[in-house]
Amino acid sequence: MLKLSKVVKNYKAGDTVVEALKGVDIEFRKSEFVSVLGPSGCGKTTLLNIIGGLDRYDSGDLSINGKSTKDFEDADWDFYRNNSIGFVFQSYNLIPHQSVLSNVELALTLSGVSKKERRRRAIDALEKVGLHDQIKKRPNQLSGGQMQRVAIARALVNNPDILLADEPTGALDSETSVQIMNILKEISKDKLILMVTHNPELAQQYSTRIVRLLDGNIVDDTNPYTAVDAVAETASKKQKRAQKKIERSKKMSFFTALALSLNNLLTKKGRTFMTALAGSIGIIGIALILSLSNGIQNYIDRVQEDTLSSYPISITKETTDLGSVAAAMQEQQEKLEEGIVHEDPERVYASTIMTDIMNIMLNQTQTNNLKEFKAYIESDESNFSQHASTVQYGYDIDLNIFSPDTSEGIVQVNPSKVFEALYGQNMSEMQSEMGMSMDVWQEMLGDQVLLDSQYDVIAGNWPQNYNEVVLIVNQYNEISDAVMYALGLKDPNELTELMQAVAAGKTFESKATSYSFDEILDMTFKLVLSCDYYDYNAKNGTWTDKHEDENYMREQIADGTEIKIVGIIRPSEDAVSTSMTGAIGYTSSLTQYAIEQTNKSAVVKKQLANPTVDVFTGIKFGNDGSTDFTIEDVYQYVASLDEETRTQVMGYMQAMSEEQIIAMFAEQMAPKTTEATYDGNLALLGVCDLDNPSMINIYASTFEDKDAISQIIEDYNNKMTDDEREDLVINYTDFVGLMISSVSTIINFISYGLIAFVSISLVVSSIMIGIITYTSVLERTKEIGILRAIGASKKDISRVFNAETLVVGFTSGLLGIGLTLLLIIPINLILEYFADVANIAALPTVGGIALVIISMGLTLIAGIIPSRVAANKDPVVALRSE
Ligand code: ADP
Ligand code: MG
Repeated sequence: MLKLSKVVKNYKAGDTVVEALKGVDIEFRKSEFVSVLGPSGCGKTTLLNIIGGLDRYDSGDLSINGKSTKDFEDADWDFYRNNSIGFVFQSYNLIPHQSVLSNVELALTLSGVSKKERRRRAIDALEKVGLHDQIKKRPNQLSGGQMQRVAIARALVNNPDILLADEPTGALDSETSVQIMNILKEISKDKLILMVTHNPELAQQYSTRIVRLLDGNIVDDTNPYTAVDAVAETASKKQKRAQKKIERSKKMSFFTALALSLNNLLTKKGRTFMTALAGSIGIIGIALILSLSNGIQNYIDRVQEDTLSSYPISITKETTDLGSVAAAMQEQQEKLEEGIVHEDPERVYASTIMTDIMNIMLNQTQTNNLKEFKAYIESDESNFSQHASTVQYGYDIDLNIFSPDTSEGIVQVNPSKVFEALYGQNMSEMQSEMGMSMDVWQEMLGDQVLLDSQYDVIAGNWPQNYNEVVLIVNQYNEISDAVMYALGLKDPNELTELMQAVAAGKTFESKATSYSFDEILDMTFKLVLSCDYYDYNAKNGTWTDKHEDENYMREQIADGTEIKIVGIIRPSEDAVSTSMTGAIGYTSSLTQYAIEQTNKSAVVKKQLANPTVDVFTGIKFGNDGSTDFTIEDVYQYVASLDEETRTQVMGYMQAMSEEQIIAMFAEQMAPKTTEATYDGNLALLGVCDLDNPSMINIYASTFEDKDAISQIIEDYNNKMTDDEREDLVINYTDFVGLMISSVSTIINFISYGLIAFVSISLVVSSIMIGIITYTSVLERTKEIGILRAIGASKKDISRVFNAETLVVGFTSGLLGIGLTLLLIIPINLILEYFADVANIAALPTVGGIALVIISMGLTLIAGIIPSRVAANKDPVVALRSE
């Protein structure tokens, strides 16, 4: 069944070639006990290794069951070793970190036998060698004879056709040797046993055939294979073929590989822990950087968004280019630094700094066409919506809000008159001109997400309707007393007392006041539109300003739109800055409502329909009192008089010529001039065009977005210039840009630095794990040889090591994350101490999981080379190593 013909095997050792086998011709029977005798170095082990498929012959042929092995590939040899061959070595070659049972099972695992079947067959095999009571022990707890019996059980468990034993009793005493020989003898009844021995007596006593080897040649054979044997074998082969079901070798399952590595790692717990710890250092580094940069990035994002929510890009209808003012001042400064040489050093000169700046300021006042610009940014053409988180439009409309209770006089809550009382009219006008509005009522941003991130609702809810507003308190639930007066929560008359007290040099004690949430949520106000200040005179079709008339105003307030406080909001604890400075926040829909209602009112409609006539006086705009009026103007004037006078006048007029009439009325009509203008009237009435705002505030959530918006505006301006529509160019001052243009550069710089750092940590930790895996390969060389001898393929070997690196990588990852979480605690305490921001560093969960996976991936990559090395180890060499 097994035939070697002219098998030659040479080994190269440096320059010399060792001829281990010099053309061996021999054939073996299906079942016999062959002993191979010969002096040391004559090629016995080489012969066995070649027969066992562990080593390859250089020339000649080895045929198995009549089939040549010349064309065998690695996989065929693996299959052959696993299914047809059992190896027994002098030094037992058991895997030390596996139990006796696992050692025996291993060969079956490789051939893909189910776990239950594996166990049964392994126990069977161990019973055959008389060791069924030792299965749980580790090899090093057994005697030499017992270990060799385990090795025999392992060789037999796959039910191979051939058992190869290389000096199996070489290390055993004679009594134990006899036990082993008896077992082998029993096995040889239905198997071919090829045993190398140095003991001729044992060979004589137990084997059925003795082959002598000398210098790579067979010199003696006591029972050569003959033609008779050949005939007998072909007969029985036919039966056998049907019997032996060939299980095509499957790959070692990943779990077997994992179990092997896990067992190996568990026997060296301390070392494995140290390895994982070493590997985890890289992970800790990365995780810490990740936690820190994540925390800092979150903080920066929040600061960015919150800062940008207070400093939008603000474009107004009229603007002064502060940028060129700053540039002019800079220029002045430079002049001074460069040095100025005056003609006559004996004189004092005026530096023109102030006049220069004034000139610039006057010249730089520009108007912006916001109507066109609004249309542009709302069109799809601009990518505005991608970068702007909110766009807020401001209109020249006063929201006249009053206290609903008019029993003790009329209290205007917005625009508040309280501050006028406090600072004097001029002061408050100046303030509003300087843009430092003391507006208690403020339109909220339309970005609910941003609002939610900046404010907590401590009572009620956010406004849902145009007529709903919220009260904004500070973090201590306070609103300033000024606001209390302004809202009428405190009696505004107290202010007068305060002023008097101050003037008299006394201190004024205001009562500390507080209100329950319910009291606040009960508060209502009344909105009266500017156009409703004007009362219609049915007599002459004009409107009269009645806003000083208390009774008239009482009625208007009673009829006004009710505004309700529906919620109280407070800046949330982690908000860096907040978007609102006022105390009452309303939505843009209230503004819209007011504009729409105004445009619907009768007085506004009338004025819009007659753009040439002042709706308040009925006189033509631009009438400067000259007598240059026509007879029609006279009739119109007469028509506006009361009935009695009119009939009287009409009587006179019948008897007069046109010139006479005009001359007569010249005196009466001359004073009826109007200084009003159409635009001025519309402004008084609070008329606004929703498409034509007076101010546009553009909010961005990141500096990048803000820069992108600036760029879009610049592109728009360039386009307008190219189209020769300079009048449409938008001028504005980018305050935020001036303030923080360098911040994003710094942030980017830090991020890149951190990324570089992380990359280095990754490389270092991968190299570390690669080295550790390589050490493990060196350590387990013997095991690799054993696995190969029992049929493991190269792939199986690399799988074992890959599994090991995965386990190490997983442990490193977990260990790294765990240690990072521990380290973050003191780091955050230190950061809080220095930077005063709590819990900056935080490891994101996804990042943590990703790092464990990355750790596994990296160790796998790092282990690829070592596991290749392991897989490519020559099994023969590997077995020789100690
Ligand atoms: P035996 O088992 O009979 O003692 P071996 O088969 O182990 O002898 O070796 C036969 C000869 O081949 C010896 O001279 C040995 O040194 C040589 N040899 C065996 N294996 C190798 C090898 N891997 N590389 C170089 N020489 C080897
Ligand atoms: Mg040998």
